[in-house]
Amino acid sequence: MITDHLISVYDRPVPRYTSYPTAPHFHAGIDAKVMVDWLAGLPIDAPLSLYFHIPFCRKMCWYCGCNTQIVARHQPIADFSGMLLKEIAMVGDILTASGHRRQVTSVHFGGGTPNSLAPAEFERIMAAVGHHFALDADLDLAIELDPRTLDAEFLAAMRRTGVNRASLGVQDFDPVVQAAVNRVQPFALVEQCVADLRGAGIRSLNLDLIYGLPFQSVSGLQRTAAQAVSLQPERIALFGYAHVPWMKPHQRLIDEQSLPDAYARFRQFEAASQALTSADYARIGLDHFAKPGDSLRIARDNRTLKRNFQGYTVDRADTLIGFGPSAISALPQGYAQNAPDHTPWARDVGEGRLAAVKGIALSDEDRRRRAIIEQIMCFGRVDLAAFGFDPATIMDALTPLIEDGLCHLTGHEVTLTARGLPFQRVVAAAFDAYLVPAAKRHSRAV
Ligand code: SF4
Repeated sequence: MITDHLISVYDRPVPRYTSYPTAPHFHAGIDAKVMVDWLAGLPIDAPLSLYFHIPFCRKMCWYCGCNTQIVARHQPIADFSGMLLKEIAMVGDILTASGHRRQVTSVHFGGGTPNSLAPAEFERIMAAVGHHFALDADLDLAIELDPRTLDAEFLAAMRRTGVNRASLGVQDFDPVVQAAVNRVQPFALVEQCVADLRGAGIRSLNLDLIYGLPFQSVSGLQRTAAQAVSLQPERIALFGYAHVPWMKPHQRLIDEQSLPDAYARFRQFEAASQALTSADYARIGLDHFAKPGDSLRIARDNRTLKRNFQGYTVDRADTLIGFGPSAISALPQGYAQNAPDHTPWARDVGEGRLAAVKGIALSDEDRRRRAIIEQIMCFGRVDLAAFGFDPATIMDALTPLIEDGLCHLTGHEVTLTARGLPFQRVVAAAFDAYLVPAAKRHSRAV
């Protein structure tokens, strides 16, 4: 049973481990020149995954933790999409210097709001991707969408380009919660959007929910989960709201008195999770839920599930190349992040340089710990012997977790208990050689 004692001890800032080492450890030694060398050094036959960050929205949601900016006019977005074409061409030219177009198995548009692009801009970007890369016949083409601004023209562009996965930001269906976070989108609007997406050929639909928002309650989360299930998406993600107003000043618009405390947050997650699992959605890792037959669920069961910057993934590629401001590339050699702000990113790209400004090269030890952390985050267990890792070296960190019943250590195998499942990130953190205790740079564990 999860006790208040466990929440008080372990609800502490820990990374989400979408990378290891995590982004706060990136440094300026990894720049555009290093990125060019890394791209040029990629094996010719290595499949690639591409990520495009579209950093624009029409209206600020007060809970937002993303890298975005609010624009009232379209011109900045049009200028941005021109720069993105230039960045695609630069990366494409480096990768085709050998005379081969590289195979791409997955393309993901995130943001911000990717459907803030004009339909013709979106199609031009995909045409450029198709020109510079060899798109796999079974390409996963995914896009994050704001249901409030998705229109028939954009849906038609999605259909023409072959988008087959979509993710809708929902958060909560309760009008009181929606008003408190400045994102009003009635259930009927989302329902219509889901029907439109199915009509546009989307084979895999994800809905994002959030707990820990103002005025949310256990019963409200249960209602929202049931409404989400009624739309029958293949996947539902259930994220905890990260209140970090020192990093995201617009979050100060949220009345802190209306936020649930750690205990209430935990109960909200448990209630929504229970509502989803009793509707036959299986929990995948930390925060995802998947219907029977969904590829995430199959990958969890056959132990091929992976974790990257998009969360849990079945992506076949080991190399991810990020485009747009703040986008992170994960290459075999290490991580490289583009300039976080739009202006320096656009200046670099406009002057014909890649926009990587920080990152980290991976040591063998980083790779070993990354693989261990990924196993814990994906499957809740790891055989340390498979990685030649001696548990004796981290017993200081592991012993309190074992004594509090969050995990077992049997021989070389670490296994999360049911009690430890909500603290998956805390158990993973025991293997993080970079972690600064109690750092305020990460969101809370629950
Ligand atoms: S639509 Fe998404 S990215 Fe844009 S402000 Fe809202 S939460 Fe942030």
